[in-house]
Amino acid sequence: MNNDVDAIRILVVDDERDIREGSERILKRIGFIVHIADRGDVALKVVKEVHPAIVLLDLKMPGMDGMEVLEHIRQMDEGILVIVITGYATVETAIMAMKQGAYDFIPKPFEPDQLRIVVNRAAEKIRLTRDARKLEEEKTRTLSDLDTEKSRIRTIIESLPDGVLVTNASGKVVLINPSCKQLLNLDPDMGPGRQIEDYVPDETLSKLVMEISKGKHVDYGDIPDHEFNLATDTYLRARAQPVLGERKECLGAVLNFVDISTMKVLDRLKSEFVAKVSHELRSPLSTIHEQLAMVIGDLVNSAPQQDHHILTRAKEKTQGMISLIGDLLDLSRIEEGIICHEPKSIRLDDLLTNIVDFLSSRAAASSQSLTLNLPPQSLPEITADPLALESIFGNLITNAINYTQEGGRIRVDVDMAGINIRVKVVDNGFGMAEKHLDKIFDRFYRVKDDRTRYITGTGLGLPIVKGLVDSLGGIIEVESTPGEGSTFTVLLPAQNA
Ligand code: ADP
Repeated sequence: MNNDVDAIRILVVDDERDIREGSERILKRIGFIVHIADRGDVALKVVKEVHPAIVLLDLKMPGMDGMEVLEHIRQMDEGILVIVITGYATVETAIMAMKQGAYDFIPKPFEPDQLRIVVNRAAEKIRLTRDARKLEEEKTRTLSDLDTEKSRIRTIIESLPDGVLVTNASGKVVLINPSCKQLLNLDPDMGPGRQIEDYVPDETLSKLVMEISKGKHVDYGDIPDHEFNLATDTYLRARAQPVLGERKECLGAVLNFVDISTMKVLDRLKSEFVAKVSHELRSPLSTIHEQLAMVIGDLVNSAPQQDHHILTRAKEKTQGMISLIGDLLDLSRIEEGIICHEPKSIRLDDLLTNIVDFLSSRAAASSQSLTLNLPPQSLPEITADPLALESIFGNLITNAINYTQEGGRIRVDVDMAGINIRVKVVDNGFGMAEKHLDKIFDRFYRVKDDRTRYITGTGLGLPIVKGLVDSLGGIIEVESTPGEGSTFTVLLPAQNA
């Protein structure tokens, strides 16, 4: 307690020198900083200068008496504890002084111990008051820190270039930043407080946000990004996540909106470019292919074996390029949404029977069995472009043939699953490791291992299949085990099912 911050200053005011200096000695010894004054007016000056915490004040002094000094001290600072020093005869005066606001009194003459006890009691009160004040200050500081932190985060969210919107557990918007209002073409004065569908013009996204807000997607990983376009040419990508509380309970949803219009334009330009180049290449390549076929036919007996082999390889390569171009053109048509422009009512059992018949010679060439298992009852019809359906199942069955060893088994099982027709293409071929399964629907992705390396392909078949299934409102899933085989399941919504 000797350091300057915590040390307590005491002023001893007494006209009797012995008491003044005696008290000074005793109090200094126990760690106080002591000032002395022999008269009332001097005492008031010292109070002004050093702001003592305690004043030991003799009531009976010549000149300004103790009561008057007490009154001045109380006016200067009510926090100063005044201990009055009185003679036996003036106990009543001491009581009066207490009534005037003195903190305690000590009768004269006193023993050093008596002085120590009275002063220590006052010092204890001062320390407690200081501690209480410190705590109070700390509390205020923490609260104001919190306030600053809150307003800092709010300012950051308000200034973010991406749109941010937060809902509560019932789908009501509780926060929306200016960028979000701008991206969604909302009135800049529109505040939070309404349901999500009043802000987001896309029904699927509103539904998704309601589901997330109500805690249906607590696993962060399983929420796909959602892209949508506004009436203007603006395309937005929304990423939604649940907001979880401390006990992992769902408190609402947070959405982040990004403008992807430029990306969409670039994507379209790229597709147009690919489509154009493919289109330009198709005719000359077909011509080369046909001419190679003619040359090979003409030279079949006359040319040396070596030339024949080279020409046949060239013909195979051009065939590969023609299929690649065909796939690229199909993909760009799907991306433009024009593949299913001639929807008809189709009986899937007839269509699958034809495809399986057509491909069975290919399976037979590898000694594979290819069987179609239709349900006993006839299937409801499907509204679709027949070319799209042929492409979906033709690709899946061809893949099953290509990626299954000689003598393998391929099955096409058809049944109903609720309102959907379910077609499973099952093979007991090479199969794929788990890590490939969500990538094989990406363009140009091919699994390259010792068994598949030499199988020619473009890596575009499954993206085409996925694009077509999506455009028909269906779902495609894959299960596969390396060395055991793969199952591709397609669900397509049936008419009047
Ligand atoms: P492509 O067959 O022209 O390579 P796809 O897009 O049709 O392209 O298929 C992508 C990849 O997925 C293939 O390269 C192959 O590795 C894998 N794959 C597709 N179907 C099967 C299957 N039935 N069994 C094993 N792997 C398959």
